[in-house]
Amino acid sequence: MAHVSPPRLRDFERIVFFTGAGLSAESGIPTYRGTGGVWHKYRWQEFACQRAFDASPEKVWDFHDARRGVVAACEPNHAHRILAAIQREKSETVVITQNIDGLLQRAGCTHVIELHGSLWRVRCEREGIRKENFEVPLSKRQCDCGDYWRPDIVWFEDALDPGNMRDAAAALSDCEVLVSVGTSGSVYPAAELPRIALERDVVSIEINLDETPVSHLYTYVLRGNATEMLATLWD
Ligand code: NAD
Repeated sequence: MAHVSPPRLRDFERIVFFTGAGLSAESGIPTYRGTGGVWHKYRWQEFACQRAFDASPEKVWDFHDARRGVVAACEPNHAHRILAAIQREKSETVVITQNIDGLLQRAGCTHVIELHGSLWRVRCEREGIRKENFEVPLSKRQCDCGDYWRPDIVWFEDALDPGNMRDAAAALSDCEVLVSVGTSGSVYPAAELPRIALERDVVSIEINLDETPVSHLYTYVLRGNATEMLATLWD
């Protein structure tokens, strides 16, 4: 049964945040399942999987350029800024995110484990290189080798990066407190990760507008916007 008043985050050193699309909702980026969610309108099979990219890289890049445009027009919100402030003050804080929007970094977060990659990185499979790129739209879709740059995003049907999974698991194995922010906890395998901390019986706090399939596993459940609830825990 969830308790009512959570402890102050200032009383901990090793804090892990596990974040999802709800963290960026107040910046104006629709969540996955919420109204305006991109996969209501577009079929991922045509725009967000390796097979689609291999078949029509130009079409997939048109879609990703449009997504870049939407995200570039949004600003980090107070919740992103609070996480950056906590990282500055508590150097052992780890932020694990399923988001690809880069808003945490724009708010000043320095150490973010991006489980699902980034809209702002591209990679060349043939050359084995990846680089940051913030152009909207991407000015050159091909690498010098002639292959298309691929968005460095974990698309549908892709495996997650094992190094990221290891780093996330290590942080969750060692933290004193876990704070989940704005995730439905239903996109796997990322959604499995918080269980590493939850099974250790650490202090755990879920921030979400709604009940999720994993709410009952958390010590404290805060129902409300990420900005307000994080401010309560920190400011
Ligand atoms: P999800 O859409 O499945 O769930 C979002 C959750 O956030 C919901 O439980 C919702 O109740 C909650 N929420 C919505 N607004 C909130 C707010 N203001 N404050 C607190 N909670 C709020 O998202 P997910 O769990 O992250 O999984 C979806 C997948 O799609 C992930 O890979 C995700 O990163 C990706 N995605 C990313 C972005 C982005 O980068 N901003 C946007 C959409 C989807």
